[in-house]
Amino acid sequence: MNDAAQGEVFKGSFTQQEPIPEEGIEAAVAVMRHGRLHRYNTAPNETAETVLLEQEFAALVGAKYCLAVASGGYAMSTALRAVGVQTGDRVLTNAFTLAPVPGAIAAVGAVPVFIGVTDQLVIDLDDLAAKADQADVLLLSHMRGHLADMDALMRICRQSGITVIEDCAHTMGAAWNGVPSGRHGTVGCYSCQTYKHVNSGEGGLLVTDDAEIAARAIMLSGSYMLYERHLAGPPKEAFETIRFETPNISGRMDNLRAAILRPQLRDLEERRARWNARYLEVEKGLKDTAGLTVIQRPAQEAFVGSSFQLLLQGWSADAVQAVLRRCAARGVELKWFGGAEPVGFTSRYDSWRYVDALPMPQSDAVLAGIIDMRVPLTFSLEDCALIARIIRAEVSTVFQSNVK
Ligand SMILES: *Cc1c(COP(=O)(O)O)cnc(C)c1O
Repeated sequence: MNDAAQGEVFKGSFTQQEPIPEEGIEAAVAVMRHGRLHRYNTAPNETAETVLLEQEFAALVGAKYCLAVASGGYAMSTALRAVGVQTGDRVLTNAFTLAPVPGAIAAVGAVPVFIGVTDQLVIDLDDLAAKADQADVLLLSHMRGHLADMDALMRICRQSGITVIEDCAHTMGAAWNGVPSGRHGTVGCYSCQTYKHVNSGEGGLLVTDDAEIAARAIMLSGSYMLYERHLAGPPKEAFETIRFETPNISGRMDNLRAAILRPQLRDLEERRARWNARYLEVEKGLKDTAGLTVIQRPAQEAFVGSSFQLLLQGWSADAVQAVLRRCAARGVELKWFGGAEPVGFTSRYDSWRYVDALPMPQSDAVLAGIIDMRVPLTFSLEDCALIARIIRAEVSTVFQSNVK
């Protein structure tokens, strides 16, 4: 290691996103000027920003129907309700994911059954096949943007009659084998929370091709009897009985957020290219570091590199923590999925003590080595190269003194 690498410190912020595009700011100001923020509060012949957002997102991912809602978590619990999950039902989901996912299952009174994670950071398809008879629904989390072999996963689920709901909080703009993330299963759910791929502070989107599920989701979200205003929703016949039997569990999106989101959606492909340039820069700087494993991305996976994961496989907790401490001292904020207690946004399947989770030793071994880092678009390529040099230097130092 050279002295320069030892002395360098990163000064940027891992939580600083880009500003809202000017076009979005102007559209938001226009909404505030006219004051019609509620999605059903429109002037004659006006199409609400929320409706336009739904139409544009449906077109972007090639879905028949789209519903904009208050959060990604709300989209997931609404999807679970809309496909018919009832209190006490079991729902399969990932052991490696974040709190909103088991939370969405708990929100409908159902019980998560965790499926393990592989060292490629995707859901373990053998474990899924083994547990396929335990539930009728899989809430599949594409955690940190890693897509499982979706063709194989859908085969398993089709054979077992499992309905798949995709959590695409980290995969808006991604695809497997040319099919957009969120379009493999029956319902796709996306988040517009600040740290995801489009930013309205909070917000969510739900897509499906199933008219009945779309109608239920629209009624659930709080459409009253104004469902015909959903131009990205199913025809009014789909609501005939559903409108009487579906409770209103308000979680609508408003026109202000939709106005902010529309120009960001238009730029999604360009943002994906910029994220991936940053991801590849970090990857290049970390390749062939002794003790450190970089995740190989499959050729079928078109990912969005908005975060970076690396593995310190077989390291002791003390050694991993030494790396985290030393990187933090040089301005590089890393998160770890091996900690005994949840920290910040990071938690693991055994942190959610409202779930009776069975021990998962193989997944524990993977989680114990996962290091995770945000890559906001405010980082330059030089920033990414510097961050990689710092991680490489500190991993090497600790590896040489502790692990080898
Ligand atoms: C952010 C996130 C969600 C959705 O979260 P909201 O904050 O409710 O929009 C879902 N799944 C994962 C893995 C997430 O990180």
